[in-house]
Amino acid sequence: MAAVTKHFIAGEWREGAGGAMQNVNPSTGKLITEFPIGTAEEVDAAVRAARDAFDGGWRDATPSVRRKLLFKFAELLQANAADVGRIATEDMGMPWAFTTGETLYCAEFVEYFAGWADKINGETIPLSAANTLDYTLREPVGVVAAIVPWNSAVSLAVWKLAPALACGNTVVIKPSELAPLVALKLMDLLAEAGFPPGVVNCVLGDGPQTGAALIEHPGIDAIAFTGGTATGRRVAETVGRNLKRVSLELGGKSANVIFADADIDAAAVQAGVGCFINTGQQCIAGSRVLVEESVQDAFLEKLSAFATSWAVGDPMQPTTQMGPLINEGALDRVLRFVDEARDTAQVTMGGERLGGDLADGYFVAPTIVAGVRNDMRIAREEIFGPVLSVIPFRDEDEAVRIANDTPYGLAGGVWTNDLSRAHRVARRIEAGTVWVNSWLTLNPQAPFGGYKASGIGREGSREGLDVYLQTKNIYVQFH
Ligand code: NAD
Repeated sequence: MAAVTKHFIAGEWREGAGGAMQNVNPSTGKLITEFPIGTAEEVDAAVRAARDAFDGGWRDATPSVRRKLLFKFAELLQANAADVGRIATEDMGMPWAFTTGETLYCAEFVEYFAGWADKINGETIPLSAANTLDYTLREPVGVVAAIVPWNSAVSLAVWKLAPALACGNTVVIKPSELAPLVALKLMDLLAEAGFPPGVVNCVLGDGPQTGAALIEHPGIDAIAFTGGTATGRRVAETVGRNLKRVSLELGGKSANVIFADADIDAAAVQAGVGCFINTGQQCIAGSRVLVEESVQDAFLEKLSAFATSWAVGDPMQPTTQMGPLINEGALDRVLRFVDEARDTAQVTMGGERLGGDLADGYFVAPTIVAGVRNDMRIAREEIFGPVLSVIPFRDEDEAVRIANDTPYGLAGGVWTNDLSRAHRVARRIEAGTVWVNSWLTLNPQAPFGGYKASGIGREGSREGLDVYLQTKNIYVQFH
């Protein structure tokens, strides 16, 4: 029988009183562990612990205390990167080399926000009235509910924990039921770093029960949510009713636009990586690759050569570049999208489940679908699998029109050696991030977030502090 995993509330590991769920290693289909589905009472206990910690001293912790604790947490992430990476890999299937690298990147992210902890200041405002002093304070909001998905389990948790704590808030985090174990390891490391009991809490569980109880709880002051657009809408409805602060990081269907004058070798490799990395289970997957008609054949040849070389296999092996999909349901869904596209477009590579040594896991080959039109379902919906659609275009206006013809607006790319065109198209693409002659670069210093149905708010950068702070204006009259 697998070990039962526990909630982390007020600095203690607590058994769940409700039902339990199982999580499975997607590479092998084998059970890893069971974990509790957090009940409304357990959510309540976590929110109360966070409130007590906030009122009981954390709100008055000096900025340098917060900075030092976060630096210590960053140090521990670095020291434990291989272990954190292994847990993430077993839980959700991203290759170990990548999850370890992701953890090291998260350490940098924490350091960046540790740096902000003692630089959050208000302003003095000159008023037109005589004998007055007016100034603002940037204050923490209080208790933050952080709800995250499974697909980059380390980053998505750290991206919320670091800025929330830097600003002086306390946090209740609910990781995804599909990969809950990394968040528990993070709780361990935060406690070891010295964060006082109750400052961070973790409630395990699913969306409909545990997540819904958390976002409805009257004791929370802000919700930082990452997940699918449909779930984001439900969170937004609750937030609208209860009037809470919110940030929403949602889905995408990003377009990578490749012009004939681009470095086609580099574009083909980066377009492949941009779609196939993490088995296409990335909000920023470049799943629509728009290619200028005159170079389409050359591009496809190079892309296929790249995809053939992309090493799919056991994610614990250091040479593996692509692991499995998260579960059987995801595998079926991805294959259904590809099968449907067979009638109207050309599946030139992949599109099938992998067998042999990989038959017990949820592995699918990197898949390329050529001759896609932007009105096909494969080009409109987020697939969350390694399926790259190639869509031809004739000129710049058509490329921009197709790129923007989507409800989403998370990311976009433009490949060209024409400097003016690069800037022109980057400005015209309706997305929160646009890469020129690259794809995937993310830095803690740069804001990340969505236009349109891809979300509200930003993570990373100074803007990443905003949801975790509120502004108080203080007016002083001299007599
Ligand atoms: P999901 O929306 O199903 O779940 C996300 C989280 O919300 C999970 O913890 C889940 O338990 C919880 N949840 C589900 N229903 C809820 C409810 N009614 N109330 C409260 N919480 C609820 O998403 P997923 O399948 O875990 O993740 C994949 C999605 O996340 C994709 O759409 C992807 O694009 C998106 N994503 C976005 C970003 C970004 O930064 N924009 C990053 C990663 C993933």
